[in-house]
Amino acid sequence: MVYDLIVVGGGAAGFFTAIQTAEQAEQLGLEPLNILILEKTAQVLGKVKISGGGRCNVTHACFDPKLLVKNYPRGEKTLMGAFYEFQPQDMIEWLDSHNVEIKTEADGRMFPVSDDSQTIIRALMNAAKFHHIEVQVKHGVDWVEALEQGQQDDARFQLFTAREETLRTKNLMLATGGTRLAAGAKLAEQLGYELIEAVPSLFTFNISDRRIHDLPGLSVDNVTVKVLNQKLEATGPLLITHWGMSGPAILKLSAWGARALAEVDYQFSIEIDWLPARTQEQIRQEFKRQHSAHGKRFISKRSVFSELPRRLWEQLVQAAGIDDDNTWAQLSKAQLQELIKQLKQGHFNANGKSINKDEFVTCGGVQLKDINPKTCESKHHQGLYFSGEVLDIDGITGGFNFQNAWTGAHLAAKSITQS
Ligand SMILES: Cc1cc2nc3c(=O)[nH]c(=O)nc-3n(C[C@H](O)[C@H](O)[C@H](O)COP(=O)(O)OP(=O)(O)OC[C@H]3O[C@@H](n4cnc5c(N)ncnc54)[C@H](O)[C@@H]3O)c2cc1C
Repeated sequence: MVYDLIVVGGGAAGFFTAIQTAEQAEQLGLEPLNILILEKTAQVLGKVKISGGGRCNVTHACFDPKLLVKNYPRGEKTLMGAFYEFQPQDMIEWLDSHNVEIKTEADGRMFPVSDDSQTIIRALMNAAKFHHIEVQVKHGVDWVEALEQGQQDDARFQLFTAREETLRTKNLMLATGGTRLAAGAKLAEQLGYELIEAVPSLFTFNISDRRIHDLPGLSVDNVTVKVLNQKLEATGPLLITHWGMSGPAILKLSAWGARALAEVDYQFSIEIDWLPARTQEQIRQEFKRQHSAHGKRFISKRSVFSELPRRLWEQLVQAAGIDDDNTWAQLSKAQLQELIKQLKQGHFNANGKSINKDEFVTCGGVQLKDINPKTCESKHHQGLYFSGEVLDIDGITGGFNFQNAWTGAHLAAKSITQS
């Protein structure tokens, strides 16, 4: 038997390719297609399950393709046309038509109303079942080869699996996920694709520094962080953790700087502006006001800026060489200058990285020059498609990585059914 489509990888990209192919074939009035998903582990959609802290941040409330692509450190150009074809609004409508209601959080992240990733999994599983898509778990693919046209019936690819089966298919989707591990990359390599080396994206910074030592869990709503000696800067919330720093500002930097930071082995310095909405001059004026209005008050006791939590203020005051019992009246010029420096240009040394528990992806993989961006089909093998993290596309945190998987799957499905 020759399958119409074999999908290798039962993750978001693979599952959605299979479903969309079946659905689009139905819409076009085609005969039902023979579609098989092969997943090497015991469970399909494993990452969907754990995604977004178990809630699945399924996409992002950004509906203008021109703005949406700005969230992809790698893949921006390729995704532009793709998002005109299938973007978050289309995914929300698909979910809605499969009985999944979606809500938007204040920062634009979108989750199922149930706050449970199982809701998304159920919708995908039901759709696959409805269209009689065959799903085999614990059935990894070890080897793949492209067949000469007309070599054997109309099959274009032959797969050799861990169960020692040989399977043949007209269309093949490789949705094997991130290529950091050799397993994710090997099938593409077997077909001759040279991969861009994989490095982690979306990680937190390990920083051991007295100023943040006792503050895990503390967050600041809006800071600007620069990586020194690199053209990397991000603004947004920052979270202090047991190991260092996390939060959207740090995660954005980790994504945009994924390659540059890997090159320096994650040893680098950052500069933090804890008060980006205030100029140095405005801060100086505020200090003057404190000096004249509250000269007898202890400086460290109360943060004079509403956006800066008191415990962090205390640490920064201490780091500026100001003792706990120093009052505003006693503040020297040098101390004032040092405090402004701590607030606007605090330097911290990062020494390594940690995995971000809510979302972790790799950049690198199959090169975008090897695929047609309108279809996700390989330029070198007719009927071969790639989607999801196996491609050298990755987004910042916020639902953008799943959206890449949904969109690539949709494009591939359209191309498969139209051919
Ligand atoms: C903890 C965590 C949380 C995340 N949260 C979010 C989030 O909330 N929002 C978001 O947008 N993104 C999130 N991401 C990123 C997102 O999960 C990935 O970008 C997305 O799952 C990629 O989908 P994929 O189908 O390309 O790859 P995967 O989901 O990795 O699926 C690939 C599948 O292929 C299988 N496979 C590999 N090789 C073979 C083979 N030879 N034979 C058979 N099967 C094979 C693998 O076992 C795997 O099941 C998160 C990631 C992690 C790790």
